[in-house]
Amino acid sequence: MTGGAEGAVLDTTALLHWPLERLAGGVCCPTQLDELERLSPARRMLVEAAQIEWMNPSPAHFEAATSAAASTGDLPRLSTVDLEVLALSLGLQRPLVTDDYRLQNVAMKAGIEARSLATRGAKQQWSWVWRCTGCGKEHDVSTGAKRERDGPGPDCDVCGSPTVMKRPRR
Ligand SMILES: [Zn+2]
Repeated sequence: MTGGAEGAVLDTTALLHWPLERLAGGVCCPTQLDELERLSPARRMLVEAAQIEWMNPSPAHFEAATSAAASTGDLPRLSTVDLEVLALSLGLQRPLVTDDYRLQNVAMKAGIEARSLATRGAKQQWSWVWRCTGCGKEHDVSTGAKRERDGPGPDCDVCGSPTVMKRPRR
């Protein structure tokens, strides 16, 4: 595995964080350039010059992406650009590169392969934790709980507040 784009659809975090040579061969929506402009104008200029295929999803695939997101309950938390990226992935039947767990969740629901940005190097891997919304304590998530990412977490064993699935703080 080279860890490059290789025809995969890349979300905006990949455009921000991957080295340019790794972006080559990826597919993205033109609206991501606007998003990138807001986040980092300098990065936008670099990315614009990268070997990326820019494409808009069809309205039918956008609708399919929207209903997949609605069915998992992720729709309220996804942006239009997120849905466009997902729609592109659906239409092309290509893997989606994203670290957004909601996008990963919907992609899997829609039968699309979701890849995280870090495909190489164990040191970049991480697992989810349940983080208390009250005191912030992080609780381990067993690997068997993967499929319940969007379900409610256990109550905090310190303060009894609900917990939410988060990436661990470092
Ligand atoms: Zn707590």
